[in-house]
Amino acid sequence: MSHHEIYDSMQDNCADILTPTCPFCGQRGWITAPQTGADALMEGHPVQDVLPEVDPRLREQITSGIHPRCFPGAEFGDGIDPDLIHGH
Ligand SMILES: [Zn+2]
Repeated sequence: MSHHEIYDSMQDNCADILTPTCPFCGQRGWITAPQTGADALMEGHPVQDVLPEVDPRLREQITSGIHPRCFPGAEFGDGIDPDLIHGH
C-alpha cells in the first residue's frame, strides 16, 4: 500500500498531497493534484504514471519530500555543476 497522505482539496476534483519531510529544510509541503491521480497514488501506482502532467520537480517532492527550491544547486542557477543536480 501507499505511504502517501492525501486530503480533500479546496479545489473541485482535486486532492492535496502532504509530501514527506524535506531533508534540506526539514519542512513538509503540499502538492495539489487531480483527484483521479491522487486516488491511483493511494493505490500504490508510481507517481510518474499517475501524474505525468505534473512538473518532474513536484513529482520528486511527492516521492522524496525535496522541495524544488531546496534541490542542491537550485539557488545557484547556471553556476552549478549539472552533475551535482542529477546526482551522478
Ligand atoms: Zn525543503
